[in-house]
Amino acid sequence: MFDSLNERLSGLFDRLSGRGVLSEKDVDEALREVRVALLEADVALPVVRQFMTKAKELATGEEIIKAVKPADQVVKIVYDGLIDMLGGEEPEPLNLNAVPPAVIMMAGLQGSGKTTTSAKLALRLSKFDRKKVMMASLDTRRPAAMEQLKLLAEQVGVDFLPIVAGQSATDIARRALQAAKIQGFDVLILDTAGRTTLDEALMSEAAEIARIANPIETFLVADSLTGQDAVRTATAFHERLPLTGLILTRADGDARGGAMLSMRAVTGLPIKFLGAGEKVEALDVFDARRVAGRILGQGDIVALVEKAAQELDQAKATAMAKKMAKGQFDLDDLAEQLRQMKRMGGMSGIMGLLPGVQKAKKQIDELNISDKTFDRQVAIITSMTKMERKKPDVLNASRKRRIAAGAGVEVMEINRLLKQHRQMADTFKAMSRSNGRGAMGQMAKMFGM
Ligand code: GDP
Repeated sequence: MFDSLNERLSGLFDRLSGRGVLSEKDVDEALREVRVALLEADVALPVVRQFMTKAKELATGEEIIKAVKPADQVVKIVYDGLIDMLGGEEPEPLNLNAVPPAVIMMAGLQGSGKTTTSAKLALRLSKFDRKKVMMASLDTRRPAAMEQLKLLAEQVGVDFLPIVAGQSATDIARRALQAAKIQGFDVLILDTAGRTTLDEALMSEAAEIARIANPIETFLVADSLTGQDAVRTATAFHERLPLTGLILTRADGDARGGAMLSMRAVTGLPIKFLGAGEKVEALDVFDARRVAGRILGQGDIVALVEKAAQELDQAKATAMAKKMAKGQFDLDDLAEQLRQMKRMGGMSGIMGLLPGVQKAKKQIDELNISDKTFDRQVAIITSMTKMERKKPDVLNASRKRRIAAGAGVEVMEINRLLKQHRQMADTFKAMSRSNGRGAMGQMAKMFGM
């Protein structure tokens, strides 16, 4: 998978790295080429658009890391965009937090690999996690499918709910739950019926099973070879079933990769596993870093840029902590903080973890930082002269009117920002006095993260 995408992007990066300096136009062109490559890989258009917006923002952001070659920065921007598309760096673990048995429900179209994947999961849970696992087949329409799961259960060495002819899917679900409970199973995997196409009967049956079995995980199994059809299937299932995650099969095949790259962004659901072959061992935990690495094949560069960025952040954090200890927190510093907050996806969550900074947290919450307000606030600050940013006290009515016009905001918003800045500066000053070194260490950590 991703072969042609990888080829195209590698070619692009090779050409870029041959050049020393990249103009804004070069970067724009490079990103346009990435866009075409993603579309050719069958990534859904809205997802590509989202990617482009984010990439452009990163490329024009002020975080130019001098220690890193421009071409390498482009690699990192594309890497970050892919990670974002795939739902973030950290794999989402399988959730088994339920009063036993933790029920895992498998849904999907016929032939998607649902039954095989059930067995793969069962094997992983029993072998690696030492869980006591039972599987049950609810595919009443296809006796062969029931037999197939039974054979697979024997093969991977887990229990299988005996087949009782004539029972409905919901009856089987009830019987499975009861059996698993009485016999002390940790996990119960329910393999539901699939059809070749989506239909109402299939959906309502699946919804009814979910209601009865109350699964902690409800997975949609989808075939990555079917590309955007897999994405549409996932969306349709998600409308009817409270899905908790996706499993993509045939990741070992030669799909262009569009399904895998679009799934998360389109459905909002995490991809939790990848099926990577016909064997029962062939199930991988989904790891966005691995996927992005496979697409880009530039692991060293990504690590290098990350390290440089970290060093830059650390140097900034130290300088910031020093300034704040002296009570010098000017509007440039606030703008820098706002940018960092946006990068980190919100400061207030991080601050909430630190003891003794409740007041500062509250003030940051009051800033009400969404991406939009962030942009407006940074626009206000960048519309000021250097002197105004250092000494906000000089801001009289006419200066404020000029800034308001420049930033496209009301004077009221400027006043609000100034007031909040003053409060933050005071709080930081007071913190540094009352808590001494400990508090400063916390601040450094807070801004350096
Ligand atoms: P179901 O109808 O959804 O239950 O699908 P099955 O589990 O019966 O799978 C259909 C076919 O796809 C079988 O031949 C499986 O061996 C094969 N299969 C399932 N998952 C994978 C996978 O990740 N990679 C490959 N190459 N084949 C798979």
